[in-house]
Amino acid sequence: MKHLLLILSIFLVIQLDAKEQCSLPPQISNLIISKDLSTLKSNADILRNYRSLQGLCVHLLAFREGALVWKMFLVTNPKRSSGPFWFLPHDNENSAFNSAVYATRRYGGGFLSVNTNGHRYNMGQDPNRNFAKSTQRICSQQKAASPLYTDLVFSIINYYKSPNLPYLALHNNTNRGGISALKESAKTKAYLAYPREQVKKGIGLSDEDSLIYIAGSQANPPSRKVQALLNAGLNVKYEHVTPQNNDCSMSNYVVLGLGSENYYNIEAQHGKTATQIKMINRLMQLIFTALNN
Ligand SMILES: [Zn+2]
Repeated sequence: MKHLLLILSIFLVIQLDAKEQCSLPPQISNLIISKDLSTLKSNADILRNYRSLQGLCVHLLAFREGALVWKMFLVTNPKRSSGPFWFLPHDNENSAFNSAVYATRRYGGGFLSVNTNGHRYNMGQDPNRNFAKSTQRICSQQKAASPLYTDLVFSIINYYKSPNLPYLALHNNTNRGGISALKESAKTKAYLAYPREQVKKGIGLSDEDSLIYIAGSQANPPSRKVQALLNAGLNVKYEHVTPQNNDCSMSNYVVLGLGSENYYNIEAQHGKTATQIKMINRLMQLIFTALNN
């Protein structure tokens, strides 16, 4: 009896251990330079979220393409590694990182965050203007062709992302800057979830800086999609993507390179983590409800 219990408990421990293992896409197994959270603490994003990152899988990976060395944090939930998966191209956007840690704990999946020592660019290259499969440089904001970067980032995203879930990104923007629900351009249209006067006050979800970016190949977005977001209290910005105005951003690559319009980017002002988390929760509810209906 004693032996049986011992064998049974060993079996249980092995089972629990197996469940908690970090699952990695095969393409990146030789790119991992660290997976020790206490060593990674020297990074400000990791240090700030150190307690919340306990129990999650945290890997730092690195690869080179041309003149650029790319480092990225891959954070996933070992209990549910398949789920919503976020891409965070800008290392100076700290609230986005905090929000991504929250989303990974709550919803499973995970996120990939470019690590450029707290800066927005990597040696002059905007990480969010570096998506193209071509072996030629095709966008003015690309320093060089980036097929490896593009392939690796999307292999990682597609490994963790449930196929029925959208491509997801998190960003922070500046107060009343260019990314605003009150501004439109030749390429973008904006839709307010609140009266204009309220949006101008710049508070919480109604703030002009709090918005969900969607993208597509048509001049206008699907009205049902926009309406659902507005009904959820989320300001919307639609980006009309064409081969002529391609800027090699993630959204543009999803539309032009992958032929998908299932993309959401949650934008909130720098420092507004609580607002960004509310936006994540509302978007997740919308997506999960739509999938269950
Ligand atoms: Zn950004």
